[in-house]
Amino acid sequence: MTAQVFQNAACNWRCWYCFVPFNLLSADERRSAWLRPEDLVARYAAESNRARVLDLSGGSPDLVPEWIPWMMEALSKAGVATETYLWSDDNLSTNYLWDELTGAQLDTLRNYRTYGRVGCFKGFDEESFVFNTSAAASDFGRQFEIMRSLLDLGIDVYAYVTLTTASPDNIPARIGGFVDRLQELDVNLPLRTVPLEIQMFSPVSPRMDDTRRLAMNLQHRGVAAWNAEIARRYTATLRERLVAEVPLESAGVVWGQCSGGRRGGGFAALARGAHLG
Ligand code: SF4
Repeated sequence: MTAQVFQNAACNWRCWYCFVPFNLLSADERRSAWLRPEDLVARYAAESNRARVLDLSGGSPDLVPEWIPWMMEALSKAGVATETYLWSDDNLSTNYLWDELTGAQLDTLRNYRTYGRVGCFKGFDEESFVFNTSAAASDFGRQFEIMRSLLDLGIDVYAYVTLTTASPDNIPARIGGFVDRLQELDVNLPLRTVPLEIQMFSPVSPRMDDTRRLAMNLQHRGVAAWNAEIARRYTATLRERLVAEVPLESAGVVWGQCSGGRRGGGFAALARGAHLG
């Protein structure tokens, strides 16, 4: 399955492993262009062999929350909504979705059947979050609050997590604590969560130092701990489900048609790198 990606050329964080060059994250008009959703959809619809998945990414798409309902409206108007799976990334850093959108726009999000949204947890505890993003430690807990609001919105929600840390101490226990917090949001949310493998893409290379090199190695311990937690908490039958078929108990429905057959929760490296919202 192929996907076409449109990127918002701005982000409020600067994760060291981001595979987007930092000079493309600063809303620099010399390196980006102002385009209306209708313009983006027209370019997409004009493709002779267009991708089935349209990914609204970044940077951080949630800095412009109206982008998503506007794209939904433009896709519908162009007559390609039902044949296009719309996916958007979210770095779980802002409440703009609820602060800035109208009730009607939120309804558009709720009622659009071919839409999925992924929230990316930038670390599995405060230490790893601060190390990864250089943001404030309190923003780690805020990611869970925003994910709670996304679940409450009743849309089709998934999660990513990056397991890089500068500290080798107690990784299994720390991963266990993270999985606990996901389950507090929804008992099955870990099965809709994909650990991302951080890789050495060319923009990352000049940002590397010994600690970051250590973190890239430690993420594999994190994956082993993650897999152990998933195996301990869920039956094989549930683990075998496609990630889009894992029911969210908080939503009371089984959502989705996305993600091309990923199995839920159990393995990293299904998506790579991470600008990913
Ligand atoms: S990984 Fe995502 S949140 Fe982090 S700097 Fe890149 S775009 Fe921003």
